[in-house]
Order: sequence, then structure tokens, then C-alpha cells
Amino acid sequence: MVKSAQEAVGVAPEILAKYEPVIGLEVHVQLLTKSKIFCACSNRFGDAPNSNTCPICLGLPGTLPILNKRVVEMATRASLAINCTVHEHSRFARKNYFYPDLPKGYQISQYELPLATGGWIDVDHDGGKKRIGITRLHLEEDAAKNLHEGFAESATKAYIDYNRCGTPLCEIVSEPDIARARRGLCLPDYAAADSPVHRRQRLQHGRRIAALRCQCERKAARRAGIRHQS
Ligand SMILES: [Zn+2]
Repeated sequence: MVKSAQEAVGVAPEILAKYEPVIGLEVHVQLLTKSKIFCACSNRFGDAPNSNTCPICLGLPGTLPILNKRVVEMATRASLAINCTVHEHSRFARKNYFYPDLPKGYQISQYELPLATGGWIDVDHDGGKKRIGITRLHLEEDAAKNLHEGFAESATKAYIDYNRCGTPLCEIVSEPDIARARRGLCLPDYAAADSPVHRRQRLQHGRRIAALRCQCERKAARRAGIRHQS
């Protein structure tokens, strides 16, 4: 059952009278390629930890990433499926940050020139259709995975599986349309519609764990027609 905006965000009615929640989603789709995005390592899920690694996906000095053509083909199909404009030129950059599952200190991602922009997806919501704008679709590599349980010393140590390092990801960023449905939030409707789109395109394995990961961007905007009071 769809919650009302008030129930969903848990704020007082007088606040909701002045402000409306503005919500956009960042959805990461793991692409079902045979090899990783910048090296020939297997992209198979479920193999023994750290069995699918090489100097490129470990980010060792002197290595040169080579873009997987199949990743671009799949991402282009995904872009067209969500009605985006695919650009002839896009650019990868190093996004520098340190995190325990990213020991090389940077992630290769698209920022200024993404693969595709300006699309939309129609979702079933509240007995009708709701159109959610898509800001952009860009490509990037995934980081490794921290493992916090299942080992003899898990209580005191964290372990890292580098098999996921270099997994090809499509990041799909929506416009902040999620909360502006006719009634309530249509976020679950968007998530429900997004995954089948990719499964129909045979980009993503339906049963694969964590094949679709969502990140929610939330802000509050003053409702139209409400004047500022200090
Ligand atoms: Zn590799």
C-alpha cells in the first residue's frame, strides 16, 4: 500500500504545508558481461573470494585499463530503453577517494561527459501512469566488497573480496520527480519498473544478488506560491 507523503517522511502537517519532499534516485545496475569493464578478469558472481583479479582491477602501478566494448553496447541499449539521448563522445575520469574496499584510491567513472542524458521512464502509480525524468546514465567500475562475517576472526577483522573490483556498472540518475506524484511517494513503483526494463534488455541477471542497488537523494523544497517568512 502506498503511504501518504506525511506518513512516508514522518514530519508535521504544518511543515508539509510549506515544503514538499524532493526525491531523486541513483540506481546502480550491474551489467551481465563475461569480463570486467577494464580488464579480462571474469565478471562471474559467486566465485571463491579473490579468484578473479589481475594487476589492472587491483590498480597496480603501470597498468593500463582497456574499455570493454560489450559494456558500451549494453549501456547504450539501456540508455535507449529509458529514452535517453546517447552521446557520440563521453569521458572517463578518476574519482579520487579512499575507502577500505577501494585500496587503489580512485574509481574510474564518467562525470562531465556521461554516455547518455535526458530520458524518462513511465511507472504504474496510484491507478495511473507517472513519468519520471532521467537526468543521465553513466558508466563506472564497482569497488571491491568488504566481508564482515563468515570467517573465524570476523569479530575483530574485516576481509575484502576483490572479485567485485572492476564490475561494470550503469549509474542511472533520476530527476527529482519521485515525490511529486499525484498522491504519495511513487518510489517503490519506480524501483519496480526500473529492474524489469533492464531484464527485458538482457542486461542484468534477474536472480543475481545486488544486481540493482539504489541510493536515495532527498531534499525539501518550498511549495510554489508560499512566500518566505523569517
Ligand atoms: Zn582484472
